[in-house]
Amino acid sequence: MSKKITKTTLPLYIGGKACLAISGKSFRNENPATGRKLTDVEQAGRRDIEKAVVAARKGFQTWSQLTGMERGQVLKRAAALIRERRMELAKNEVRDSGKPIAEAPEADIDSGADALEYFGGLAADVKGEHLDLGPEAFAYTRREPLGICGAIGAWNYPFQIACWKAAPALAAGNSMIFKPSEMTPTNAVKLAEILTEAGLPNGVYNVVHGMGETGHLLASHPDVDKVTFTGSVPTGRKVLKDAAATIKHVTMELGGKSPLIIFDDSDLKNAVSGAMNANFFTQGEVCSNGTRVYVHEDIHDDFIAALKERTEAMVVGDPMNPKTDMGSLITPDHLDKVLEYVRLGIEEGAHLVTGGEKLTVKGFEKGNFMSPAIFTACQDDMRICREEIFGPVMSVMTFKDEDEVVNRANDTEFGLSAGVFTQDLTRAHRVVAKLRAGSIWINNYNLTPAGVPFGGYKQSGIGRENAAMALEHFTQVKSVYVELGDVECSY
Ligand code: NDP
Repeated sequence: MSKKITKTTLPLYIGGKACLAISGKSFRNENPATGRKLTDVEQAGRRDIEKAVVAARKGFQTWSQLTGMERGQVLKRAAALIRERRMELAKNEVRDSGKPIAEAPEADIDSGADALEYFGGLAADVKGEHLDLGPEAFAYTRREPLGICGAIGAWNYPFQIACWKAAPALAAGNSMIFKPSEMTPTNAVKLAEILTEAGLPNGVYNVVHGMGETGHLLASHPDVDKVTFTGSVPTGRKVLKDAAATIKHVTMELGGKSPLIIFDDSDLKNAVSGAMNANFFTQGEVCSNGTRVYVHEDIHDDFIAALKERTEAMVVGDPMNPKTDMGSLITPDHLDKVLEYVRLGIEEGAHLVTGGEKLTVKGFEKGNFMSPAIFTACQDDMRICREEIFGPVMSVMTFKDEDEVVNRANDTEFGLSAGVFTQDLTRAHRVVAKLRAGSIWINNYNLTPAGVPFGGYKQSGIGRENAAMALEHFTQVKSVYVELGDVECSY
């Protein structure tokens, strides 16, 4: 009997419809909080990627010929459908990623809808320039789409990542082949269905599932014009190498080890809230997290006392329970890696104030739970202060003065984000100007509205997502010289 798509199959989505993989392979997707199987995911091989590229090229030919206004209307209709299905999509996200339902509707689903709405609004405004060259000539530029964009996503914000990539790419007239993380593949397909329902022509947004090899096939395909990648620095290097072979355009949204600086005049309650948001949201699995927390020595003890009390009151457990603050980490291996960093922190001489323990949650014995950890007495050269842990582990250090803390904050190969808490406006802006990071928050942390560019300095990335400037990364400029006079020729 030939294989069919059933309720427990998560299909590929190519050319406007769900399909089985030609490869004949599939893999298991499970709920990290329960260990139970969610779906059998169709795994794209070389021939599936070929099929997706052919579909995306065809889709591009139709889509790029529409007006920006028409493209924008489709994206805005998709945003409206997402808002209607907000809770259903949020629950998918919770089941796939283990994050709490208290976060997902707003941080994941609304954020995705915002991106489609925002770029839907901008689609009609993708334009070139007129350049006056005197009475007998002028030039103009056309801002044209790139073609097929290969997109590869991480597992921590699967729906948001898919939308943040698709919205500007599609607004500009490109088509896309998206590979979600193998661990969180569900909502990329849901987004494809919604886009089709909203009127997107077939082949404009395709989904291929798989592991690193599928990503490699996509990033190295000669007919893919751009690669937009969200993931770790080591994988980013491999993807860049693949893209280099055919000189593709690239956007890289990579990891971080961001500093959060808390001056002695800060509002203490807000600073503690900021530090908790910067470390414990989504189990600490957030690229922009401010995991190196520099607290002025004069307020250190008060800060730690308040932080400890509020951290110990956090509820860890069933991600579907609205009262849960922190859910399950993504896999047992990842939990082990994070716990190993806790062990290492103690070995390196940091003081574990609270947390850092594996937790067993009744009814969720196969989940990957741990208590949020706070280290004090940290030193800049400790591995827990230099390497991205990607879990709920905060490292607190003290500082005395501004220049010293700025130098220490900048002493990292990463540069994704940073935060500054102070009541002194002048100091806030002075410090921000010196910090080498792509996104900086003053008196808050980890807010990423659709209209504000997001991306990294140094090894944290290339290019920006969100904001009008993301359109620049999904278009290319054609310059056209127009002669109105005679051709000068000395021959
Ligand atoms: P990885 O780098 O492990 O994986 C990212 C994606 O790349 C996944 O889809 C993965 O597939 C795929 N992949 C793996 N190997 C290859 C390859 N050789 N070629 C092409 N694709 C490949 O990151 P994680 O998924 O573990 O995500 C965590 C990382 O992402 C952290 O470093 C975090 O900081 C970063 N991140 C950055 C963000 C930003 O905007 N700057 C936002 C969110 C996360 P598979 O899942 O099957 O392995």
